[in-house]
Parts: sequence; structure tokens; C-alpha cells
Amino acid sequence: MTTALPDVIDRAACAGMDAADPLAAFRDRFVIDDDVIYLDGNSLGRLPRATPPRIAELVAQEWGRVIGAAPGEVLVTDTTSVDLFKLLGAVLQAEPRRRVLLTEQQNFPTDLYVADGLTRLLASGHKVRAVPRDALRDALDADVAVLTLTHVDFRTAEVHDMAALTAAAHDAGARVVWDLSHSCGAIPVDVSSAGVDLATGCGYKYLNGGPGAPAYLFVSRRLQEQLGNPIQGWLGHESPFTFVSAYRPAAGIRRWMSGSPPVIGIAALEVAIEMFLEADMRRVGAKASQLTELFIRLADARLTRHGFEVASPRDAARRGAQVSLRHPDGYAVIRALIDHKVIGDFRTPDLCRFGFAPLYTRFVDVWDAAERIVSVIESGEHRRAEYAERAFIT
Ligand SMILES: *Cc1c(COP(=O)(O)O)cnc(C)c1O
Repeated sequence: MTTALPDVIDRAACAGMDAADPLAAFRDRFVIDDDVIYLDGNSLGRLPRATPPRIAELVAQEWGRVIGAAPGEVLVTDTTSVDLFKLLGAVLQAEPRRRVLLTEQQNFPTDLYVADGLTRLLASGHKVRAVPRDALRDALDADVAVLTLTHVDFRTAEVHDMAALTAAAHDAGARVVWDLSHSCGAIPVDVSSAGVDLATGCGYKYLNGGPGAPAYLFVSRRLQEQLGNPIQGWLGHESPFTFVSAYRPAAGIRRWMSGSPPVIGIAALEVAIEMFLEADMRRVGAKASQLTELFIRLADARLTRHGFEVASPRDAARRGAQVSLRHPDGYAVIRALIDHKVIGDFRTPDLCRFGFAPLYTRFVDVWDAAERIVSVIESGEHRRAEYAERAFIT
């Protein structure tokens, strides 16, 4: 459903695309300072306007209400790191003869740390096998218990073929755990048609759930009774309020709860999720590919001559909602841009990352951001000593 960008791109053409954008009205439902172009791809989606009153209502009227688990396959709970621990641990426990967790070397650090920590905890010959992205399929052998990957790469926005890798893992007798942190809210994801076993992802990036929003986990119904949650807590018990001493797992998705749910965080996330349901993820994904395409076109036309290199895939189908540009002075450029009210972020060693959240980013924002990058680099402003100082990143 993606329509092509106009042949000639200027700011007026971008404004025309905004006028025709079926998602344009969602922008007014976020708290937005019109001076700032907010392209932060890491921690914080914008605050939906409906969130503060909703939390106030929850705090005032619903405080103390126990949140029952949603029926089905998804549970909003804990953090991505903790959910990864639970899902990977469950698979390893169920498959004691297979002792390898297969992943890619460039996976998000928390995914690598959690896998490594689990192998130490189990101390039964378990190993993390971390290979380059293009060696994953060949590394799927009879020792692999689980293939665990992040769907959209946090550095480059490159998208794995979820269905194909899931099928390859299943052919090798392994399970899959997908991390959807940079996918959900950015591009369409269909875990059912891809045959995914297990997945998790974070609530505070493209889902706009707010600082420290809870994560979610997905357990396919076909595995719900076979796998057990290794963090056995009282709310995952079959009957939590009888307070019996022996653990008996609840049926269905509720056994994946451990302790008390972050009720306020869930309410804030709910506001954001309702907007995505209304917007329709196919339209969100279509706009993400147009916004990123536009930025790549502008980068090719105006930025590569200043030493920038597009590090994200050029094929929109293989790209998330962010675009990363390599530049040797990337850190200083990102810092100088903040003073021009363009908020991107930097990833070592040289990646300038720009996240284009489809519900509130306009096409003119993409144009203006590119313009300000050109102006920073042409004026040499990024060379100012204060921008080069790496006070915050080591
Ligand atoms: C942001 C992110 C996380 C976050 O983990 P938390 O434990 O929820 O803080 C995990 N995985 C990936 C790929 C991420 O980008």
C-alpha cells in the first residue's frame, strides 16, 4: 500500500505529502513542541495527550484493582530483558539435550547478556553461539535449542526475514525467540503467519508507552502448556490468592506473570496501543517506508557529498522505521543538531540514527531535518570543541 514519492522533491512536495497523509491527524494526539524535530530512535516515543488524564483516572478511581492477564497469547509484563530470560530459560529447560543458544554477534547487547547469563546459571554445558548475520543458517545444527534474534537491527534498521528464519530453525528442530523492540509500532509484524514460537519487545520506543513502559511477551498457543516460566512467581500461579506453598503454573498466558504488574505503566501503554489499532499497522508501515525513503533520497542528494554514508538497507521491505548514516564526526554532528532542535541519536563508532515514528513525524520534518544537517556540516559548526567532547558516551 506504499505509494511512490513524487519525482521532484522540495519542501512544497513534502507539504503536499503531509496534506495527503491518512495518518496526519494522529500528530495532534501527541504532546508536541512544534520547534523540535523529534527523531530519537532509542528510548522515548512521544507522550500521547490522552495518557496523563488516563493515568490520573486510574490512580484516582482504579487504584488497587488487580489486572487480570489478557486472554490469548500476549502478556504485558516486566522488561524485555526479563522477558527474554523467561522465554529463553523456558526453552532450555524443555530441551535439555540441546545446549546451544544461537544468535548473531551484532544483536542488541541485553539479548547477548541475558543469553550468556543463562548459560552460566544452568552450568550444564550450555553455550551461546554468536555468529555473523550471514552465517546464521549454517550454524543451525542439532545442538541448537533456540535461535534468538532481534527482528529490526537497532543500528542499521535491517530487517530479518522472520518467516524464513523461523522455518529454518524449525527444520533444524530448534525454537525461535524474536525480539521485536524496534519492530512493533514501526512496521507490520505477523507472528502467527510466520509460525513464531516466542517473542518479546519493549513498550517505550515506537509504541510510545512512556519512560520505563513495560515490555510484552508472546507465547504461541501451541506451546503454552508445554513450556514453563522459570521465574515462578505468585501471580503466575494457578490460584494466586489461595496462597498455597507449592507452585502450580496457571493455564494459558497467565503463567508467564511473575510478580505484580506495573499497573500505571500498563495504562499508559494501553493509550498508545489503542492509537495503533485505530491507525492500522499496514498504514503505519507504509508511512514508515515513505518517510525513510524520503530521508534516504535527501541523504543521497545532499549529504553523501559531505561524507555521510547510508548504513540502512535501500530496499524498503528490508528496513525498519529508522535510517542510520555513517559519518566520521557523527557524534559531534548529532550533538550540534540538538542545538538546532533536531533530536537524533548516536551509536558507536560512527552511526547517526534517525527514527521516523509514523504517527507523528511529518514529511516536512524529514525535509527540515535534512536541511539542518546540511547547514550544520556546511558551516562546520560540528567542529566546535564542545560537540567533540565525549562526556556522555564511552
Ligand atoms: C531497547 C531494547 C531492549 C530493551 O530492554 P529492556 O529490558 O526492556 O530495557 C531490548 N532489546 C532490544 C533489541 C532493544 O532495542
